[in-house]
Amino acid sequence: MKDLFTKKQYDNLNRYLQSAKCAAIITHTNPDGDAIGSSIALAYILEKLNINSNIIISNDFPEFLHWLDGSDNILIYSKKRHETREAIKTADLIFCVDFNSLSRTEILENIVRETSVPRILIDHHIDPDDDFDLKFSYYPVSSTSELVYRIGTKLLGTKILPKNIAEAVFCGMMTDSGAFSHSSSYSDFFKIIANLLDCGIDKDKITHLVYDNFTENRMKLLGYALSKMIVLHEYHAAYITLSREDLKKFNFRIGDTEGFVNYPLSIKGIRLSLLLVEKDDHIKLSIRSQGNFDVNEMARRHFHGGGHFNASGGKMLYKYEYCNTELEKIIKTYEEKLCNA
Ligand code: 5GP
Ligand code: MN
Repeated sequence: MKDLFTKKQYDNLNRYLQSAKCAAIITHTNPDGDAIGSSIALAYILEKLNINSNIIISNDFPEFLHWLDGSDNILIYSKKRHETREAIKTADLIFCVDFNSLSRTEILENIVRETSVPRILIDHHIDPDDDFDLKFSYYPVSSTSELVYRIGTKLLGTKILPKNIAEAVFCGMMTDSGAFSHSSSYSDFFKIIANLLDCGIDKDKITHLVYDNFTENRMKLLGYALSKMIVLHEYHAAYITLSREDLKKFNFRIGDTEGFVNYPLSIKGIRLSLLLVEKDDHIKLSIRSQGNFDVNEMARRHFHGGGHFNASGGKMLYKYEYCNTELEKIIKTYEEKLCNA
């Protein structure tokens, strides 16, 4: 398997690890399967290296990830402010996983900035910021969980990891590749999956736990969302908007809209899909594309966001009532690119 990182990077990492006793592992706000999977896998890898750690997130994570071993111990700032702050302040090493800019941790950013311990980035997003002392950043891979597997197996000197670590890695690789439908067209991806199976994971069970664990309300919200989808065939684009009222009607719980943005892409000819969800003080956007249309550029330019070439996110600061009109104006500026993508 191709080595993605240099000997110097590993030497530096080992140097940091040798003097660490208690690390903080921080991931992005609204954490997904890869954020949580990579954090848990890393925490258990550090434990095998005799380093304690706390996983810290700014807000809660979806229920379909609660089965992961170790997820009970995750410190959530919105629930335990004092403990979370203390865990960051007392850490002697900070791992930043699955994001490329500290701003993605929202409320945690300032607490992290007040510390002076080394920060190590492990991430697969394009163009990481310079706020890190050591970077394991490589964007042409499926997930941060895959990078954690590669780094962990190198540090531990074996491809076979304990089952709980392998399950967390698998969870991140599966969810970030849309259950192997994208970001996974290279043989090393499946070599790693094969290694994870050799670690004793039950692939079918994990798939079932992640994808067949939704509430009836979530399923009905999906039906409602699809029924109000707007398709702009001439621009090869489609979008869905959900207001706070819509979410309330279906008793929304965190994680319920996960995956909705992918559905419009299964319409023939649609290359760009957007999901807009009204939050307290902004509209959260999820953006996906098919083929040669760069949604990272679109998210950065128009929506204070970023992400990957075909999957990005951001914010709109308009009132919900105006978001359709504003969004359509923006989509129209991409007509040529969308028609040629
Ligand atoms: P999702 O649409 O699933 O929330 O996010 C898709 C991708 O875009 C993920 O890789 C995520 O990290 C990134 N992303 C989502 N929201 C934001 C945002 O507000 N800012 C930036 N920079 N990236 C985002
Ligand atoms: Mn990821």
